[in-house]
Amino acid sequence: MKKLAIKVDIDTLRGYREGVPQMLDLFKKHGIKASIFFSFGPDNSGKAIRRIFRKGFISKMMRTKAPSTYGIKTLMYGTLLPAPMIVPSAPDIFARASDEGHDCGVHAWDHVYVQDELPGITKDEFLSLFERSAEMFEKLSGSKPLSCAAPGWQISPVSLEVQEEAGLKYCSDTRGHSPFIPVFRGRTYSPVQIPTTLPTMDEIMGLPGIDDDSIGDVWLKGMDKEWNVLTVHAEMEGLSKISVFEKFILKAKENGALFHTLADYARDSAPKEENIRIGTMTGRAGTLALQEEK
Ligand SMILES: [Zn+2]
Repeated sequence: MKKLAIKVDIDTLRGYREGVPQMLDLFKKHGIKASIFFSFGPDNSGKAIRRIFRKGFISKMMRTKAPSTYGIKTLMYGTLLPAPMIVPSAPDIFARASDEGHDCGVHAWDHVYVQDELPGITKDEFLSLFERSAEMFEKLSGSKPLSCAAPGWQISPVSLEVQEEAGLKYCSDTRGHSPFIPVFRGRTYSPVQIPTTLPTMDEIMGLPGIDDDSIGDVWLKGMDKEWNVLTVHAEMEGLSKISVFEKFILKAKENGALFHTLADYARDSAPKEENIRIGTMTGRAGTLALQEEK
């Protein structure tokens, strides 16, 4: 029996408003509890265009058909159009995810800002961004957030310190193979890291031999760890790729997969200290946080 946790990242207003309700319907239909991480504040997706000079950005935009996946409007938020607020635009969607028993956590207050500017963000600023999300989380769900997932798998000593001081039970900021207690630049942090183990759709879709029909098999084959984690995006698997996502869920069930949340993993695993290093990954522009290979 293979364990699988579905981690949903919500990056944009459109993903939140249109993708999340469809995903919640899908999870209900298949009796799955997922771990869902929300971007609460402004949708500044248009500013991601600054990444255009980064190696790999354009090929990724082409491979993932970004304009049709994200919508033209989304690609202008924060530049030609003002940045709309995400969760406040429809707080009932967040409340529904929480009420339906999903493991909810914080992705970001401002996803694009944190993903692109994290190295320059001070502890005070990071704390105030986190607190804004945490306050909204608590107001809408009645409890404090116990987990977070870094935008674009970006970490800094500041982000890890704030997560520890906030008393989070676990964080999913890294890519790797199994739950671990993170050591970064010689310091240990208490929240357990539950890394994403599988490649995301936007990293591999369109590579040779990988299309809507075959991606589910690629993921199934990749579920060779004890604690498998797949990150999906409300913008993609919740919208234009929802049927591809459902096909994968059905296949995974046929193959005996048992669905868990990241909170279950944090509770059930026996993590040991391991290093985080900053490196690169196929299909992803720029660097990200990786669990050191054993
Ligand atoms: Zn994200």
